[in-house]
Amino acid sequence: MSEEKKVYTTGFGAPVDNDQNSITAGSTGPILMQDTHLLEKLGHFDRERIPERVVHAKGTGAHGYFEVTADVTKYTRAKFLSEIGKRTDVFARFSTVGGEKGSADAERDPRGFAVKFYTEEGNYDMTGNNTPVFFIRDPLKFPDFIHTQKRHPGTNLKDADMFWDFLSLTPESIHQVTILFSDRGTPRTFRNMNGYSSHTFKWYNTKGEYFWVQYHFKTEQGIQNLTRDEATEMKGKDPDHATRDLHEAIERGEYPSWRLEMQIMTPEEADKYRFDPFDITKVWFHADYPPITIGRMVLNRNPQNYFSEVEQAAFSPANFVPGIAASPDKLLQGRLFSYHDTHLHRLGPNYHLLPINRPRATEVNYYQRDGFMNFSDNGGDSPNYYPNSFDGPEPQADVAEPPVEVSGQAARQSYTHPNDDFFQAGELYRRVMTDEDRENLIGNITTHLCNAQKRIQLRQTAIFCKADAEYGRRVAEGLGLDIKEVENLAEMSQEERAKATS
Ligand code: NDP
Repeated sequence: MSEEKKVYTTGFGAPVDNDQNSITAGSTGPILMQDTHLLEKLGHFDRERIPERVVHAKGTGAHGYFEVTADVTKYTRAKFLSEIGKRTDVFARFSTVGGEKGSADAERDPRGFAVKFYTEEGNYDMTGNNTPVFFIRDPLKFPDFIHTQKRHPGTNLKDADMFWDFLSLTPESIHQVTILFSDRGTPRTFRNMNGYSSHTFKWYNTKGEYFWVQYHFKTEQGIQNLTRDEATEMKGKDPDHATRDLHEAIERGEYPSWRLEMQIMTPEEADKYRFDPFDITKVWFHADYPPITIGRMVLNRNPQNYFSEVEQAAFSPANFVPGIAASPDKLLQGRLFSYHDTHLHRLGPNYHLLPINRPRATEVNYYQRDGFMNFSDNGGDSPNYYPNSFDGPEPQADVAEPPVEVSGQAARQSYTHPNDDFFQAGELYRRVMTDEDRENLIGNITTHLCNAQKRIQLRQTAIFCKADAEYGRRVAEGLGLDIKEVENLAEMSQEERAKATS
């Protein structure tokens, strides 16, 4: 705080004479319309809230940098990745997904893990989660899925029936459900979790060669989770515990960091891979594609103003820079539209001009003009159309991504890759989890699924059974279900199972 106090002004810069007493006729009122300071103050207050994000509403963020630690120029031409030791400013936002803006940080939910890189070729956003997979793989299902994670339209309560009804009718969700109901569904803090791109992306180099890649930000603080009892207690004790933890750690000078590891696959390998490399419900096994460490992210500065730097931060998986592009992943294709679209609604058509969102290391030169709240110079008197024979900016053809061959019929089609939806969830249960992880997983599931109708419990438990027989049996035992009935349902096709439990 400076010693010398500034003069309090209206939003238009005129000095305010008094901020304690409205202008009234007589000391008891009424208030006069001519109190323009009061009118301006109330009018602005009435408009303080902007729509909260429909998903990822509760979150926090911090500034920092990303440093390259390995030569990746043979894979990507992205300039911010072009040299070992090169640093780029970043802003990262962590969040829960389904809860409202005031909901508890300790809820069982995936955690958003979004990073904005302010590169010299424009802003690049990596909008991931703390899970390497997702519940669904077609964006047409996304609004329905999110409705089931939020509140019942009648009661306005969280509802176990709709939560499990949708998941049990969407078996591709089993891998993510298994991760969500492990203790990784309640990370101890945002510092103690990994971040994954989950989607596959395309990297391309200056020779026009391209590669499919997945990003893994591995926490250098170590993975730590809350058990369900600890999470329940934390929700009551401190609903903002993870927000507080990140802020306080940075204030103490304990800067959290993540190692960036990449999985990289050639197009030829992708054609032959045993899983569909673009199916977001699957991972690429580490043994098949060992992750390569290429950099490190450090967060070392707290925002000074939550609203301008965190609430107004707008990330989009469509924000690419030369050297990085989309893959055919269907869910990604839907997100390429939806994130920008939601920011247009939430913040307005000029959200990219806000200080947290605008590029810092390069200029913006384009033909977009006008719109609500355009607080740039709006292009001055330069041409606002292209092509033009004046001094307007020109496209740079050599940044184009290499073409990818596509073929097939235009129709509503599901994934046809031969590998099933259950194997990887089973591998996580059988091969990766410890006895304690499995014990906690079963308890986390049964204490939640027990609140759904019995027919839904049976249908969902059959899906656990399909991932792994023991997994299904232990859930059935925990819920007091007849294991024979569950096993019969597991034998059926999804359509028969849905009919038998309708
Ligand atoms: P590995 O057997 O080589 O490694 C296991 C991975 O699982 C590690 O990355 C570990 O993360 C992570 N993990 C440990 N416990 C959990 C948990 N409760 N929930 C989610 N992830 C956990 O993996 P594979 O590649 O052979 O894949 C086997 C299974 O591991 C997959 O089916 C998938 O469920 C899971 N997995 C795989 C990832 C991948 O990209 N291949 C990424 C994350 C999970 P850490 O090292 O950080 O502890």
